[in-house]
Amino acid sequence: MELLKIIKKVSEKIIENKDYLTELDREIGDGDHGVNLARGFEKVEKELPTMETLKPFEILNKMAMLLVSNVGGASGALYGTALMKGAAYLKTKEEMTPEVIVETWSEMIKGIEMRGKAVLGEKTMLDTQIPAYEAFKIKADAGANVKECFEFAELKAKSGMESTKDIAATKGRASYLGERSIGHLDPGAVSSYLIIKTINDELKG
Ligand code: ADP
Ligand code: MG
Repeated sequence: MELLKIIKKVSEKIIENKDYLTELDREIGDGDHGVNLARGFEKVEKELPTMETLKPFEILNKMAMLLVSNVGGASGALYGTALMKGAAYLKTKEEMTPEVIVETWSEMIKGIEMRGKAVLGEKTMLDTQIPAYEAFKIKADAGANVKECFEFAELKAKSGMESTKDIAATKGRASYLGERSIGHLDPGAVSSYLIIKTINDELKG
């Protein structure tokens, strides 16, 4: 199934970038973001064969559970909450149309905002996700297909991720550094970008 293949690729990408993400977190956090996420995604990868017959919402719930219980750190709870909120919305939906993805993603972002009590511009994963989501929605509202929507989302995810370099963190561990966090990319903004980029690469084929 397409969704499982995408999740497999995402897991591989995160595991591949374990050291890079950890290095970014060493600069402005506690140096565990890559290690945390890789631990979670290794479990996800291992469990994929057991998900073959599950519905998309069940897959997201399972993934949420695996990430929450294996990632640890803020990012495990944040990505886990996002997936759970997305799954709750997807439960009653039959097809992954652009509109359904817009609503699912919107719920996921609300989950991160609620859990992290953060907004755009605080140097977190939201700085990648919100512009990407908004780009996706613009295309979806204009009648584009999923592939076209993700292509634009990836572009805005990238500039969103890059924008974290120039701002000071006001949420999460990096906020302890205040102004000294300027000049460094936010690790969670980078992991979110890697996830969106991998989905886009997969859809492009
Ligand atoms: P921890 O900070 O507990 O060590 P990680 O290193 O795994 O957790 O993840 C850090 C990332 O989590 C940050 O780079 C940031 O993107 C994200 N993050 C941390 N706190 C928040 C928050 N309150 N809201 C949104 N994202 C956050
Ligand atoms: Mg950390």
